[in-house]
Order: sequence, then C-alpha cells, then structure tokens
Amino acid sequence: MKKLLILGAGTAGTMMANKMKRKLKKGWSITIIDKDNIHDYQPGYLFVPFDINTPEEIRRTKREYIASGIDFVISEIANIDWDKQEVTTTSAGKFTYDILIMATGCDIRPGEIEGLQEGWGKDIHGFYRFDDCLALRAALNQFTGGKLVISIAEMPIKCPVAPLEFMFLADWWFHQRGIRDKVEIELVTPLSGAFTKPVATGILTEAARAKNIKITPNFALGSVDHEKKVIEAYDGTQVGYDLLVSIPPNFGSEVMINSGLADPMGYIPVDKHTLQPKDRDNVWVIGDGTNVPTSKAGSVAHFEGDVLEENIMAYVEGMTQHERFDGHTNCFIESGFGKAYLIDFNYETEPLTGHFPLPSVGPLSLLGDTTMNHIGKLMFKWIYFNMLLKGAWLGPHTMNMAGKNEVRKAA
Ligand SMILES: Cc1cc2nc3c(=O)[nH]c(=O)nc-3n(C[C@H](O)[C@H](O)[C@H](O)COP(=O)(O)OP(=O)(O)OC[C@H]3O[C@@H](n4cnc5c(N)ncnc54)[C@H](O)[C@@H]3O)c2cc1C
Repeated sequence: MKKLLILGAGTAGTMMANKMKRKLKKGWSITIIDKDNIHDYQPGYLFVPFDINTPEEIRRTKREYIASGIDFVISEIANIDWDKQEVTTTSAGKFTYDILIMATGCDIRPGEIEGLQEGWGKDIHGFYRFDDCLALRAALNQFTGGKLVISIAEMPIKCPVAPLEFMFLADWWFHQRGIRDKVEIELVTPLSGAFTKPVATGILTEAARAKNIKITPNFALGSVDHEKKVIEAYDGTQVGYDLLVSIPPNFGSEVMINSGLADPMGYIPVDKHTLQPKDRDNVWVIGDGTNVPTSKAGSVAHFEGDVLEENIMAYVEGMTQHERFDGHTNCFIESGFGKAYLIDFNYETEPLTGHFPLPSVGPLSLLGDTTMNHIGKLMFKWIYFNMLLKGAWLGPHTMNMAGKNEVRKAA
C-alpha cells in the first residue's frame, strides 16, 4: 500500500485530502494530521466583531469535512524529515510517506513586536483568531468614541485586504450606532498606500478618503506602549490610539523552522509555478505556508489545489506534470453599507477594473463598489463549506483577462 500523507487539515489540507480521495484508486492510503479538530471559516473572523456572522456560524469540526476512508490523526507535528520521508508527531508516533502534501498555514505572533503581547486585551485587540474576534466584538460594543487605529505590523499577512475591510466595516458600524462623528479611524500600514498595486491602491485610497478614514503609509512598527496607548515606528514616528486593532506579524508553522525546511518567517521556499521544494519530486506545499509572491488567501489555496491535483496524478502515473500555478488570487473587499469590491489578479497582472466572471455582463464588478459583490462575499461561506472544502471543481484555476480593462502604458 502506498501512502499519501497530508500535514494540516485547514482549508488547503482538507480540500486536497478530499480531492485525492476521489482520484487515487486502490493501492493508496491517505492520512491527514492536524493538532486539533476545530475548523473555523477564517473570513468570518472579520464579520463576528460587527455581528454579521455569529461565532457559531463560522466554527465547525475538521472531521465532518474529511471524507470517509481518509485517516484523520489529531496530534501536533513535531518534525518533518524529507530525506527519510518521515513525519514525527508529539502523541501519535511516526508516519512515513510516498507523497507528502504540506498545508500547515500561518498564524499571528504578537510576541514579535515589543510591548504588543503585554498589551494584548488592554485596548489592543485583533481579529485573526477566534477568541480575539470575540474579544474585539466586546471591545467595540463598549467603545463610545475616540481614535480607532488599525495597525499592520509587517507584510506578508494572510488576507492582506482584511485590514481594509475592517476599517470600512468599522466606518459603517459606527454610522449605524450614530457615533461616527465621535470616532477617528486611521489605518497605519508598512505599505506605501492602501494596497500593493497602483490601480487598486488608487481606488481604495480614494474610498478611504471619501469615508474620512486616514491612511498612514510607510510605518514599520517597532513597538507598542499600552500604558501610553502609542505605537511607534522604527524611525521614531508615533501614533496614539484609544482602541488598537492590531494585525501582528504572520509566521508559518514553527515546526517548519525547527525541521530546517523554512525561511526565518516559517515559509517554505518552493517553485512558484509547481509549488514543489527544490529537488523534492514527491513533496508539494500549498496554501499560506509557502513563500510564493501572491496573497495568502483561501482562493489561492483553491486555485493551487487544482494544479496539485493534476500534477500529483501525473507523478503517480509516471507522466509529465503540465499544470502551472500562475499566482491567481481573487478576493472580495467589504466596503460597508452592504457593498464590496472584488479584485482578481496573478503574478503578472495587477488587480484591474472590469467585469467578472463574464466580460460586459459580470454580474460581479472588478474594483467596483457594488451590492452584488457584497452578496457574493456573503455567499462564499456556503461555497466554502459545501464545495471548496469538499474539493469540488469551481472553474479554471488560471486568471483570465476577459472583462478586464487593461492599463495603458505611456509611450
Ligand atoms: C481575518 C481573516 C479573513 C480572511 N478572509 C479571507 C477572504 O475573504 N478570502 C480568502 O480567500 N481568504 C481569506 N482569509 C485567508 C484564508 O482563511 C487562508 O488563506 C486559508 O485558510 C489558508 O489555508 P491553509 O490550509 O494554508 O491554512 P489553514 O486553513 O490556517 O490551516 C493550517 C492547518 O495546519 C495546522 N497546523 C499548523 N501547524 C501544525 C502542527 N505543528 N501540527 C499539527 N497541525 C498544524 C493548523 O492547526 C491548521 O488547521 C482570511 C483569513 C483571516 C485570518
């Protein structure tokens, strides 16, 4: 019996286990390992503080999404040895493999910024973990006015548009409560603007300005003083706050660093098109844990999954691997008042305006602020639990230029 071993049963690992269960026929076993049995719909962490989703709506078990016939092992992964083709866990022993899929994601580390962990929970909150988004909901409910600062410590972070969504939703939420005129909202970011690419940055910066949200760019967070309620950049620039919503540094899983497989941030270096580490033809890495230069997003894991499914089957059958990942990402960006933007891009093409998925028709608008996009974002939770995690095919994985308005370059 040959063995497929999958590390991590979050978005990417669960999806891959279910895809490969359908593809791999007799003679293969599939085992998936994760440290716990909780599966959160992470995009819902953004909605819970504003009561758009309840905590119960976004939390499930992992086991219920893993198809029968797949062995689900609950234990912490302690070491991975590519040479021996062996994975060690803290409580379930060792596992060998013929093929390895690594999907251990990334997580926040408040302890990496001086003073941040010490102040966590004391007018400093976040929304990148389940318990944090509950605490933030309580803090927002007690907030009657003052300065709300949303601080991105450093890049990369998972879902890089989530802080923008938070500031737009906060603007809407304070309007709903009738206290918007008592609240200052400021986004403090290490980026040179609201987003990374010119067209999207222009549109999103203008949207923030129109909503009276200040953006402070090029701020490399060095420390936090929770007693003085001040964040300070390495160059000495300070920003005061009454309520700080922090997006701390994101790191790949610690075990990747300890096993000597990752860069200092815990991200595993892979070929950005094949998602394989150098000279490891039976190992694939998927989702937030890679170092590929695209967003860390569920949509990326989904598009990568289609590439892996084809290429792993080609490897199993001794054929040439022909699928290549193009960096395709798409993300809705909630903008408040029942509207959202949508961006679609890849390694080569920045987010552009236009229509999606059908040219001229849409019904979704690229970089347009529409109700239809907001409905699309709300519907995505159903698609995630009922289709994406189950490994269903949701359309081509490569980005399409149809419907996009290309930027004309100066002659
Ligand atoms: C606030 C927020 C909003 C988001 N919004 C969106 C959005 O709108 N659209 C979008 O596409 N994406 C969004 N995302 C990102 C999306 O949720 C992630 O990109 C996606 O979940 C990544 O999947 P993954 O499988 O790589 O990692 P995960 O789903 O995080 O899974 C990793 C798994 O590995 C396990 N693991 C790690 N280390 C170990 C170990 N040592 N031993 C055992 N198990 C281990 C973990 O327990 C976890 O289950 C958002 C994320 C956040 C936090």
